[in-house]
Amino acid sequence: MATGQASTNGHVGHRPVEDVIVIGSGPAGFTAGLYTARANLNPLLITGNDYGGQVSITYEVENYPGFPESLSGPELVEKMKLQAEKFGTRVEFDYVSEIDVESHPFVVRTANGKEYVTKSIILATGARPRYLEIPGEQEYTGKGVSYCATCDGFFFRGKDVIVVGGGDSAVEEALFLTKFASRVRVLHRRDQLRASKILQDRAFSNEKIEFVWNTVVNEVLGDAEGKVRGVVIQNTETGVVSELQTDGVFIFVGHLPNNQLLQEKFELDEDGHLIVDTKMRTNVPGVFAAGEIMDKVFKQVATSVGQGCAAAMQTERWLADFEAHGFEGMEDPRVFRLPQQRVTV
Ligand code: NAP
Repeated sequence: MATGQASTNGHVGHRPVEDVIVIGSGPAGFTAGLYTARANLNPLLITGNDYGGQVSITYEVENYPGFPESLSGPELVEKMKLQAEKFGTRVEFDYVSEIDVESHPFVVRTANGKEYVTKSIILATGARPRYLEIPGEQEYTGKGVSYCATCDGFFFRGKDVIVVGGGDSAVEEALFLTKFASRVRVLHRRDQLRASKILQDRAFSNEKIEFVWNTVVNEVLGDAEGKVRGVVIQNTETGVVSELQTDGVFIFVGHLPNNQLLQEKFELDEDGHLIVDTKMRTNVPGVFAAGEIMDKVFKQVATSVGQGCAAAMQTERWLADFEAHGFEGMEDPRVFRLPQQRVTV
């Protein structure tokens, strides 16, 4: 057996070799944990810093089947965690700082200084908010600029806020902000929303919400106390630049996949999403992916759950094939190139 490969008793040197490590604790991650646990793979799930992923900062989830009364994002995450743990998923609150897929078994290192060896990985690291990348945005983040209405809306009771963006997030969060703010203006770069019809209808009929069309934000302005006092805006049709006074700037202009962990070895699309095939396989045999790290189209809790399930089922099949035949005899047609330099343990 080559150095660095798992022995039959499931150890490399003195270290146990995990069957599967799930990275990420959103709906995709916990579903992958649930399914691999029920397949007796004893999964280890490493949560990442943003426990629960994006749904955990969602005030109300109305479109996840099975909950007709709707429930909060954190409640849904807690239920998913409990269900995954019930069948044996081990949940570690830690952040994966590095994965090494140059040799097999793979090595996963964490911010808490732990190092794990694993035969397979399910990447479910999700996505993070996209920034506008304009002057003042970073400077006033936490001082009036926010990417989470559920987290920060409370601080804007009776105040004026703007929301930037025209998708589901922008409109949903604008609606949420009307619980606190006296006025919510949604600034969108076009004259039509991208958001779903049901959200549009609700926003158009909400008296606290106004729309400012064909408008982009060029700069966030602050006051002498270092808090947001307004924004510089520009009309995309006329080019006219003006100032708009406001207390808060909530930015929802899309998301970027959390691909920071991935080395050049992984194939990504032009937006940085992991490319997977219909079996949720990345180009590295033994590494699968689910959720917004690979999904640039749907990005729903329901689709992430489905992808997590599919990735877990495929991982189970892959591991069975690997245990039976080793890399050389596997059905997986892709060639895993074991490098000259292997992990020493
Ligand atoms: P999104 O659908 O990509 O929308 C981003 C919005 O930001 C678009 O309206 C876009 O304008 C605008 N935008 C992008 N870059 C901009 C820039 N530099 N300056 C100004 N505006 C900019 O992102 P999202 O709203 O975060 O939604 C992401 C995914 O999650 C979607 O699939 C959505 O359906 C889903 N989601 C679903 C729910 C729900 O089901 N309740 C809730 C939240 C999110 P353009 O329209 O001109 O491109």
